[in-house]
Amino acid sequence: MENCIFCKIIRGEIPSNKVFENDRVYAFRDINPQAPVHILVVPKKHCANILEGVELKDNVMVDIAEAIAEIVKAEGIDKTGFRVITNCGKDGAQSVEHLHFHILGGKQLTEQMA
Ligand code: AMP
Repeated sequence: MENCIFCKIIRGEIPSNKVFENDRVYAFRDINPQAPVHILVVPKKHCANILEGVELKDNVMVDIAEAIAEIVKAEGIDKTGFRVITNCGKDGAQSVEHLHFHILGGKQLTEQMA
């Protein structure tokens, strides 16, 4: 999408600290990290959120799950543990309308989730 910030990152029009890329998925470090490891995993094909994501003809959810597994191993947090979050809509406090999954780890996360 023309004006979507994550689409611009995927196209290389905005710089990012890339950690993973294949033909369907792109992942980069969050600009405002909430944990020692804070990575955003996004489908290259634009969709606004998880509700639109599962409606795509070529559903990318499995690709995203596979990318997350590869990334957490590369980051060395697969054994210690991590959290995966996708915010959706207003109450979910979603600020960027391009489906993305936060990977958080590298420290003991709190039990509090909201
Ligand atoms: P959300 O609030 O779930 O929509 O998350 C959006 C995330 O995108 C936030 O954690 C932001 O810090 C992050 N973000 C926004 N712009 C950039 C950027 N240019 N590069 C990396 N992360 C970004």
